[in-house]
Amino acid sequence: MGLLQDMERKQLVDLLRKQGISDEKVLNAMGRVSREFFVIEELRRYAYDNVALPIEGNQTISQPFTVAFMTQLLNVNPGDKVLEIGTGSGYQTAVLCELGAKVHSVERISSLYQKAGKTLASLGYDAKLKLGDGTLGWKEHQPYDGIIVTAGAPQVPDALIRQLSPGGRLIIPVGTSASQEVHLVTRDPSQNFEDEPEVSVKKYNYFRFVPLIGEEGWKDGD
Ligand code: SAM
Repeated sequence: MGLLQDMERKQLVDLLRKQGISDEKVLNAMGRVSREFFVIEELRRYAYDNVALPIEGNQTISQPFTVAFMTQLLNVNPGDKVLEIGTGSGYQTAVLCELGAKVHSVERISSLYQKAGKTLASLGYDAKLKLGDGTLGWKEHQPYDGIIVTAGAPQVPDALIRQLSPGGRLIIPVGTSASQEVHLVTRDPSQNFEDEPEVSVKKYNYFRFVPLIGEEGWKDGD
């Protein structure tokens, strides 16, 4: 971690604050994660530009503003159990670890799953990773206080709602393959986990994500 990267990271955090991100916990967490280790080597000089960048498998590391916006909506508290769908580079995973969450993350592309595991371990982040179809969640570790989906879905997967703890929050971009609106789905806090889930939904900004592909997502080749 060089001085230049430290300065660029600070500038990025200042920009996110100017763009309306107000949760200091999220800004501080992003100020501690070295994004340069999560981007491919040839693009490292752009690591602190506020842009999405290509990673292996024809996927992307999300734009920092998008990460900040969705993480702010997730409202993570230290010790919360969080499920991320779409590990990708592992950057969002690292931000969630910095917030003190117990992070579980699922990725469907083997090369990304392997590489993110190595990157996160080399930087000392302790997250549980799984290779598989995240539209089905990760039932073994349910319930989750928060679930964040970092790929664009055609609808909210029922399996994810069922793995939320009462009062839990699910952040997911929903829409067409061209653009998706970020949904915040909150489970009724007065319920028991075993009850049929009752949820409320709020909709926020539009973004453009790579597709969520799986049983409760887009079909491969859509
Ligand atoms: N959170 C990532 C980061 O910080 O780099 C963003 C990764 S990218 C925008 C979305 C990821 O979702 C891709 O790596 C893609 O392979 C993955 N993905 C798509 N459908 C999936 C599914 N059903 N289960 C798990 N991962 C999925």
